[in-house]
Amino acid sequence: CGITAYVGTDDAVGGLLTGLSNLEYRGYDSAGIAVKNGRGLEVIKREGELDRLREAVGSERPTGGIGIGHTRWSTHGPPTDENAHPHTDCSGRIAVVHNGIIDNYDGLRTDLAAEGHEFRSDTDTEVIPHLIESELETGKSPADAFRAAIARLDGSYAVACLIDGEDVVYATRNGSPLVLGRADGRYFLASDVPAFREYTDEVVYLEDTDVVVVRPGGYEITDPNGIPVNRPVETVDWEP
Ligand code: GLU
Repeated sequence: CGITAYVGTDDAVGGLLTGLSNLEYRGYDSAGIAVKNGRGLEVIKREGELDRLREAVGSERPTGGIGIGHTRWSTHGPPTDENAHPHTDCSGRIAVVHNGIIDNYDGLRTDLAAEGHEFRSDTDTEVIPHLIESELETGKSPADAFRAAIARLDGSYAVACLIDGEDVVYATRNGSPLVLGRADGRYFLASDVPAFREYTDEVVYLEDTDVVVVRPGGYEITDPNGIPVNRPVETVDWEP
């Protein structure tokens, strides 16, 4: 299973599909992407091999410089198109990919359903976009809503998120790997550095509970309360 994100001004789909294909060695049963295309978020996801996703992306590939991608190894809910990631909130304005397990998803799902949220998958993951939506509705900024939603999760996770209207990817990790890659004018997030080896050897290793906000012009890493933290940029020595 794996996560990718691409933050640039050119073709996010190319970067995401390259990243997902570089992460195939981790194993998966489904794959999907979400791209910010100027009108909104476009989500394409399929159970099965990456080729099924490539086919679905097809000739009308979404144009946009910012996106997230996922290969799923099912833990909650069988491998189906609906259970593949990204998952969205009710409005379709928030898209989330997740590796790991949300231990308290059952209680969160019951609470969110009582608030009127409708669920479309069997996954533990789907509570995350609904939690972010619910936090946004209280008037928080997108970054604060993301951090507040994550604070309500128990379990192991790496998460990346798109919120429509923002040229930003929000991401965090706790017990599952997540690294940031920095290339000329674009950034990558991934479960592992080989995901973006065609693009850069400059890597920031994120630590548990770090929250990263990535824009085309730069990134900021904070703790769960929004206090900035510093992580070094390292150079990967690729095996020959
Ligand atoms: N628990 C999530 C699911 O079943 C994520 C699995 C993964 O790590 O790919 O959809």
